[in-house]
Amino acid sequence: MTVRVGVIGLGLIGADHVARLRSRVAGADVVAVCDIDSSRAKAIGESVGALVLSTATELVRSDAIDAVVVTSATTAHAEAVLACITAKRPVFVEKPLAQTAQECLDIVSAEMAHGERLVQVGFMRRFDPGYAAIKASLDAGELGVPLLMHNIHRNRTAPTATSAGLIRESVIHEIDAIRWLLAQEIQSAQVALPRPSPHAPQGVRDPQLALFRTTGGVLVDVECFANSQYGYDVRCEVVGSTGTAAIDGHGDAIWTRVGSASRSVHRDWRSRFGPAYDRELQAWVDSVAAGEATGPSSWDGYAATRVAESTVSSLATERIVAIEMIERPALYA
Ligand code: NAP
Repeated sequence: MTVRVGVIGLGLIGADHVARLRSRVAGADVVAVCDIDSSRAKAIGESVGALVLSTATELVRSDAIDAVVVTSATTAHAEAVLACITAKRPVFVEKPLAQTAQECLDIVSAEMAHGERLVQVGFMRRFDPGYAAIKASLDAGELGVPLLMHNIHRNRTAPTATSAGLIRESVIHEIDAIRWLLAQEIQSAQVALPRPSPHAPQGVRDPQLALFRTTGGVLVDVECFANSQYGYDVRCEVVGSTGTAAIDGHGDAIWTRVGSASRSVHRDWRSRFGPAYDRELQAWVDSVAAGEATGPSSWDGYAATRVAESTVSSLATERIVAIEMIERPALYA
């Protein structure tokens, strides 16, 4: 079966996902596209021979498609995902699931009323071999009991970043990785702020240090530095009672010369996580073909956005904020 996909939102990652669905993901075809910018939709739609539709609603309701990819701006996610659930369409939505925890809860409620999962959220780190290896090690008990987790998330430049946006759009990747790797919820969050980098946009607190405590007592730090100047650098280390597991984010190649060693640095997230995006969309297409949603769920999308909201509220005071969540519904057990 070839899954006929409609793509909503054709900016940076939408265009990338169209290309990977066409060339690197088996069993899928992009048959319809739409974007609020009609000239962008026309250019990409014509280049891949897809129907160009005017609105997300028209695309979701079209008989030409089996499933939907939502890569529009975060503000437009909730409306598109809710339309997909109403039309009973499987949907892959880029992270974050929606802009607010309340919008995420609306999606969880609609999916529960439908009775089965239709939504996969784009937390692609779960599909990165390095993160998957740490997960396997933790699940096998090879590290003993997890105690601490250290994370680094640096971008080269982010001229349009905001202080809250760094948490809602960037640290949210680590929030999901923490919950997934440790299989625990996050019970409190705190942000500590050093002096801002002279390269941060005016008024933006960059870098930031977020501290999380999980329900199992693991203490987690996340350094987020969006204007590091030198490259894209994502690292993670879990410290257990009998060992540690780490991902070094610099890259694969190491050069050594007399008295020194050097290694490559990724320029951006597209080169670092390209293979993970491929695996993530392949897993989604396979799950649509099998008729059973897998991967990060609406619940994961809600939990991550809920934690991000509390973390943002610590920005003003740098105090610890307790995180309150609804009980996990049985659909997401
Ligand atoms: P972008 O380049 O701004 O692209 C978003 C596109 O959606 C733009 O073409 C925008 O048009 C269009 N759009 C906005 N509202 C729409 C609507 N109601 N219907 C149809 N199209 C609409 O942003 P991006 O960087 O690709 O990010 C898109 C989403 O992916 C965001 O939620 C972001 O957080 C997520 N993302 C995830 C990752 C990851 O690592 N998983 C990486 C990057 C981005 P206009 O420009 O005219 O507004």
